[in-house]
Amino acid sequence: MKHKFVDIVPEDMEDGILYISIKYGTAIHLCACGCKNEVVTPFSPTDWQLTFDGKTVSLSPSIGNWSFKCQSHYFIKNDEIIYARKLSKNEIRKGRKKDQKQKTRFLKKARISPLAWLGLKKRIRYEQESDQ
Ligand SMILES: [Zn+2]
Repeated sequence: MKHKFVDIVPEDMEDGILYISIKYGTAIHLCACGCKNEVVTPFSPTDWQLTFDGKTVSLSPSIGNWSFKCQSHYFIKNDEIIYARKLSKNEIRKGRKKDQKQKTRFLKKARISPLAWLGLKKRIRYEQESDQ
């Protein structure tokens, strides 16, 4: 996998490239399995962290494409895709709950405005519902 620093993500994304927009604080790439789904990985203390060592990039934590059919799960480490094992439905659910807990804690700390908070809560609820 290559990486490319961009301001705006091109409409025709290429396979095997991680597009990184510092301006928008996010990265996006086509699922590593080849299913062509777009995977968006926003950077924040509770989402993903990007490490650039001057030559290669790494994303942490791993990328779990639970909403795609392929259910692929992998790490991007030093510009390389490292496949991880697939998780069971139960594990995915647990992981999501933990995610939300962390998010709540982070938002409380950050004192995000109540309106933004409401929007986020709605999003979380939507994600839960679309899970079923
Ligand atoms: Zn895929």
